[in-house]
Amino acid sequence: MRIGVIGAGVVGVSAALALAGRGHEVTVFDREGVAAGASRGNAGAFAFSEIIPLATPGIMRKAPLWLFDPGGPLSIPPAYALRIAPWLAAFWRASLPGRYRAAVAAQSALMAHSAAALERLVAAHGLEDMLRRQGQLQLYEGEGEFRRSEREWRERREAGIRFELLESPGAIAEIQPGIAPRFTHAGYTPDWINVIDPALWVETLAEAFVRRGGRIERAEIRALAASSGHARLAGPQGEWRFDRVVLAAGAHSGALVRQLGLRLPLETERGYNTTLPAGAFDLRTHVTFSGHGFVVSRVGEGIRVGGGVELGGLKLPPRMARAQALLTRAAAFLPGLKTQGGTQWMGFRPSMPDSLPVISTVPGREAVALAFGHGHLGLTQSAGTAELVADIVDNRPPAIDITPYRASRF
Ligand SMILES: Cc1cc2nc3c(=O)[nH]c(=O)nc-3n(C[C@H](O)[C@H](O)[C@H](O)COP(=O)(O)OP(=O)(O)OC[C@H]3O[C@@H](n4cnc5c(N)ncnc54)[C@H](O)[C@@H]3O)c2cc1C
Repeated sequence: MRIGVIGAGVVGVSAALALAGRGHEVTVFDREGVAAGASRGNAGAFAFSEIIPLATPGIMRKAPLWLFDPGGPLSIPPAYALRIAPWLAAFWRASLPGRYRAAVAAQSALMAHSAAALERLVAAHGLEDMLRRQGQLQLYEGEGEFRRSEREWRERREAGIRFELLESPGAIAEIQPGIAPRFTHAGYTPDWINVIDPALWVETLAEAFVRRGGRIERAEIRALAASSGHARLAGPQGEWRFDRVVLAAGAHSGALVRQLGLRLPLETERGYNTTLPAGAFDLRTHVTFSGHGFVVSRVGEGIRVGGGVELGGLKLPPRMARAQALLTRAAAFLPGLKTQGGTQWMGFRPSMPDSLPVISTVPGREAVALAFGHGHLGLTQSAGTAELVADIVDNRPPAIDITPYRASRF
């Protein structure tokens, strides 16, 4: 079949490679080129243990307090406060106990599938050299914070995720020296994997795709129309007709999805980071400061410090002071961190209120497959999503039940 893919982020490129591998004639369109969006500057983690959705029971009591902390994990620019209200209402509904439990189960299934799919991808394309298999330390400040995380660790155990709980700064230092002693407890997840550089990862997959005969075109898609038999794309650079189209434009998918008659609660959680040069810190594992909403990871020879959630939409200018605030905090938590010479970045996470992506067909318009909304986990779930998208396109039964990710769940 002739297939068009909108978006050359990690989700679009991974799906295109899977489809080309099944013998389809595939063209990827991106208005800015390969890995131009969130997939370029993220923390580079295949975070397979992250099965807990953001909308946890009780989150709506905690979240407003974070808004008063200028360097804290959550911010909402006043200019966007009214616009984000409907999404926050859906987020609150997702945190109700029954929906939360269903989301944990759906996230666990997609994680297990994605971890296995990543290994298939790595074996098929010889990508082992691009991975660091060094696990992750999730740190807690004191006994109280650690005890409050117990339910999440129990849920990870039930999902078959391997971990070790550490209850002293000494035990933490054996895995990662140099962490401030205020972090007394941690969970260590050994099966967490990091990529050496998330942009390089997507570029490498794109090269493999082109070697298999795939095409990448620099074009902006402004119009999308589909029936069950074919789909049409159009934009300033031309018009195209395909047997199938995959919409994988990340946080920017909303405008195109509306043309299919769907209104989905897709928002962006803007995230910030600073990448420090080689020698900034001797980091031996991926470090997550859970209560502060940011992580520290190795990228290339450098160190990337970032995270945070800013519910500020796609149009407001970046507020790089947020990246600086995270870096200042990281320097207090990792006293040996050299904070000079960094490069700041902001990215648009594509986020659904229940933390689950949309991997779905559209009723009556089966020529389109939707693959967006992976939030904090787009790299993590990219290989798994790619296989599911290829199954949807080929009309084969998918490896896992995809009803929890359907577009019509809202
Ligand atoms: C600070 C930060 C840290 C993160 N860390 C991690 C992590 O460690 N692990 C993890 O799994 N995830 C992480 N994420 C999330 C991850 O980056 C995203 O979930 C993922 O990159 C989304 O990929 P995507 O392909 O859906 O979207 P994108 O990477 O945004 O790609 C979408 C592409 O579509 C193109 N596009 C958009 N509209 C159009 C159009 N109309 N026509 C043509 N092209 C178009 C864009 O140019 C873009 O290239 C992080 C995100 C942030 C912000």
